[in-house]
Amino acid sequence: MPATRIDVQIPGEHGYDVRVGDAILAALGRECRGVQAVAQCPQLLLISDSNVAPLYLACAKDSLVGAGYKVCDITVDAGESSKSIAVAGEVWEAMALLGLGRDCAVVSLGGGVVGDLGAFVASTFMRGMPVVQVPTTLLSMVDSSVGGKTGINLAAGKNLVGTFMQPAYVCASTDVLSTLPEREWACGCGEVAKSAVIDSDDFFFWLIDNAEALRRREQAVVDEAICRCIVFKAGVVAQDKTESRGVREYLNYGHTLAHAIEALSGYGTYSHGAAVAEGMRFAAFLGTRLGLTPAELADTQGQLLDALGLARLDWRAPLSEAMECMKRDKKVRGGQLRFVLLRDVGDWALLDVDDQDVADALESFYDAAPAL
Ligand code: NAD
Ligand code: ZN
Repeated sequence: MPATRIDVQIPGEHGYDVRVGDAILAALGRECRGVQAVAQCPQLLLISDSNVAPLYLACAKDSLVGAGYKVCDITVDAGESSKSIAVAGEVWEAMALLGLGRDCAVVSLGGGVVGDLGAFVASTFMRGMPVVQVPTTLLSMVDSSVGGKTGINLAAGKNLVGTFMQPAYVCASTDVLSTLPEREWACGCGEVAKSAVIDSDDFFFWLIDNAEALRRREQAVVDEAICRCIVFKAGVVAQDKTESRGVREYLNYGHTLAHAIEALSGYGTYSHGAAVAEGMRFAAFLGTRLGLTPAELADTQGQLLDALGLARLDWRAPLSEAMECMKRDKKVRGGQLRFVLLRDVGDWALLDVDDQDVADALESFYDAAPAL
C-alpha cells in the first residue's frame, strides 16, 4: 500500500501533514526539507529512548544527515519515568550546550513518552521551536502524535505540566511496529477501538470486520486503522484545539474508570489501552443501566474488545478508592461525576451521574459475567 498523506488543518494554526506508510522512515530527511517550518533548520535534535534508539535511530539519523541536516541526538531511558522535570531539565541543558536556537527543531522518535517529552521541551526551549513527531508505537501513531498536547508528569499526577503546540510534521512509518511487544500492541488497539466506537458506524463495523487482522498486524489493515484514527482525531481537535470548548472531552470515552484503574493498580501494571478497554466496558454497562446505551451495543463492543486481545481485567478496583479517584477526573464539575456515554455508535452524551448510581453500577459490573 502506498504511503498516505493526511492534511491536518486546525483553525488558527499552521496546517501539517501526517504521513502513514511502510518504510517511510528512510525518507524522513527529504520530507523534512519539504516542510516550511523545518526546511532550513541549521541543526536538529533527535530524541529517542533506550529501546527505540538501538532499533531505529541510525535509520532516522542517516536520512536526516543524508538530506544535509546537522543532527545531534539524545537517548532517554525508556518508560514513563522519563516524562519528568528532571529529564526535561537535562534535555534543556543539553540543548543550550549544543547551541540550539529557535531556528532549530526537535525530532521525537519513539512512543508517546518521547513524543510528549520532546514536544514539551521544544515548545518551551527559547519560548518555542518546531517539533517533528516520528511515532513508533501504535498508541502514538493513532493518538498522541496528532493533536498538539505536550507534557510531563509531576509526583502529584500525570501530565500536570504541559503546553499545546501542533507538530510541524508527523511521520508514521508503520514497519517499525513489527518490533512492538504484544502488550504495547494491545494497548494501541484499545485506543483504536475507542475512536471507532465514538466516531461512526463506518469505522466501528469496519473494525469489527478487521479486528482479527489488526490483532495479527496485517499491514494494510494496520495502515488503514491508523489513518482512520488520525482523520477522526484531527477532526475533533480542529473543533477544540485547547480542550476548552467541551468537544474534545469525548476522546475521553472509557477513560474515567481507566485512569482510576491505572492509578490504583499502580502505573504500568496494566497498559493504558487495557485500562481504557475496561473503562469502555464499564461506560457501556453504566449507560445500559441508565437506559441510554442499547444492551446490544454493549455486547458488540465487548466482543470487539475480546477480538482485539483486550480481555476483561483480572483485577477489581476497590470501590471506595475507585470512586475517590474518579472524583479527581478532569470532567468532574462541582464534585459531580460526568461520563461520556453512548446512545449509539458515533452518538455520545456527556452525562452527570449520581455517586450512588456509579458505585452501584461498578459493583454490579465487577460481579457481572466476564463477557461484558
Ligand atoms: P511509550 O512511549 O512508553 O512506549 C511503550 C514502550 O514501547 C516503551 O518501552 C518504548 O521504549 C517501547 N517502544 C516504542 N516503540 C517501539 C518499537 N517500535 N519497537 C519496540 N519497542 C518500542 O508508551 P506509549 O504507549 O507509546 O505512550 C504513552 C504516553 O503517551 C503516556 O505518557 C501518555 O500520557 C501519552 N499520551 C499522550 C497523548 C497526547 O495527546 N499527547 C495521548 C495519549 C497518550
Ligand atoms: Zn487514552
